[in-house]
Amino acid sequence: MSFLKEIQRRRTFGIISHPDAGKTTLTEKLLLFGGAIQEAGAVKSNKIKKGATSDFMEIERQRGISVATSVLAFEYDGVKINILDTPGHKDFAEDTFRTLTAVDSVIVVIDVAKGVEEQTEKLVEVCRMRHIPMIVFINKMDREGKDAFDLLDEVEQKLGLSVTPLSFPIGMGYDFKGIYNIWEKNINLFSGDSRKDIEETIEISDLDSPELTKLIGEKSAKTLREEIELVEGIYPPFDKDAYLNGQLQPVFFGSALNNFGVRELLDCFVEIAPKPRPKQSEERLVKPEEDKFSGFVFKIHANMDPNHRDRLAFVKIVSGTFERNKPYLHVRHGKKLKFSSPNAFFAEKKEIVDISYPGDIVGLHDTGNFKIGDTLTEGEVINYKGVPSFSPEHFRYINNADPLKSKQLFKGIDQLMDEGVAQLFTLELNGRKVIGTVGALQYEVIQYRLEHEYGAKCTYENLNVYKACWVDPKDSKTEEYKDFIRVKQRFLAKDKQNQLVFLADSHFSLEMTQQKYPSLKFHFTSEF
Ligand code: GDP
Repeated sequence: MSFLKEIQRRRTFGIISHPDAGKTTLTEKLLLFGGAIQEAGAVKSNKIKKGATSDFMEIERQRGISVATSVLAFEYDGVKINILDTPGHKDFAEDTFRTLTAVDSVIVVIDVAKGVEEQTEKLVEVCRMRHIPMIVFINKMDREGKDAFDLLDEVEQKLGLSVTPLSFPIGMGYDFKGIYNIWEKNINLFSGDSRKDIEETIEISDLDSPELTKLIGEKSAKTLREEIELVEGIYPPFDKDAYLNGQLQPVFFGSALNNFGVRELLDCFVEIAPKPRPKQSEERLVKPEEDKFSGFVFKIHANMDPNHRDRLAFVKIVSGTFERNKPYLHVRHGKKLKFSSPNAFFAEKKEIVDISYPGDIVGLHDTGNFKIGDTLTEGEVINYKGVPSFSPEHFRYINNADPLKSKQLFKGIDQLMDEGVAQLFTLELNGRKVIGTVGALQYEVIQYRLEHEYGAKCTYENLNVYKACWVDPKDSKTEEYKDFIRVKQRFLAKDKQNQLVFLADSHFSLEMTQQKYPSLKFHFTSEF
């Protein structure tokens, strides 16, 4: 197959949702359609269960699972689909944000009874800002939930989306009868048999046909006709360009658990979802069709096996082909590296591959060369943008608990920060180290891993910080900036990239500081 065909047939996306909405179940059903797995229960959920915060074995186990499910690839209808895993647990939100820099589109799963939940709001906001094409899947239609129109309203209002349904439920919960496929103009009746992998659809040329009444009964047929009329009156017709530009989001209804409404979603997805898209680097826009390879690291995973303490760096291929044993430029280090065993990911396994294409993810064994955001190329100096750090929400001093192991401690901290587990800030005043994280769980992960992987011990000490913001002086020579540096010295730190960070101790003090120094810009992500 030609290089261009290989690009065109790839779809790389992420499924995002609040925990428990059905992301794992949907992923599994998608894999079943691709024939990539044989039975339900094969996809492990990587969610961190409640109460796991003190169970290190659980954390370790979960980390192992999430390596396996980081990328799930399968073929469907001649299309190569790469699903990137996005942890739903809020303590791992940063991991998910970073993964979103490597997807070309997303599917948002919403629980019909719970509607739009907190994590969904945060994740969708990031996608919206990046104009990532989104499809919404409203799940658990076999249960009593919210009225379809109310839910569509909620999605528009809480998520700031502009939706158009491409399928519509016939009843719900106990009365759930099936789905009218607006996209294909046919009906699929619900049987509740999750093992059916190819559902029987009934073509309905016209909603007024008596056949419809025969199939679902007079009352339901009448309701459906009225509802579809309403849908057509309220929502804009589907427009592929608007979807691809992130301006319109098609909505599907179904029940992942019963494998119902999933085929409709998948068939439409392979038809409309974007192929690998061009990516902006600091230097220029890079197109997938370019013949020279380039890609970036969006995730790093430590090896679970204590005998192999290397790490796996996940690289998204942006342009050209990635080939085994070919030397590539590690742009930040300015040196060439060769990879003898790049991994490609399939549903349940990873395998060494000789060649990968734009849209694909390769896993590279790494002994400490990579950090998140690093770019690899065939020689050109390109730095991909868009793997930002987010302002952490928890802050603690980290102290060395074993003076004989300080080298190990620093090495461990350094590597864990490169993996993106947390962020390190060094106070300007006294050089003390502060660890900032998005979730409290990370402190235990760090402590545990420092001890078990690096043989170092640490303790934490509380520190009162409300938010960390990156300071952009615009002009560092102004009196205003100098005054800021002098007055706020106690609250200033440097991040690992040596960027200046202001550690505000309260919402109030942050606001006051912003008012007092209007020419300085305070950013909540490291990318500005
Ligand atoms: P995740 O946290 O988003 O990955 O959610 P899971 O896929 O693990 O699903 C959470 C729970 O919801 C599990 O108990 C699933 O069996 C259940 N579930 C998922 N989809 C459906 C559905 O369509 N109908 C019903 N009734 N339950 C579902």
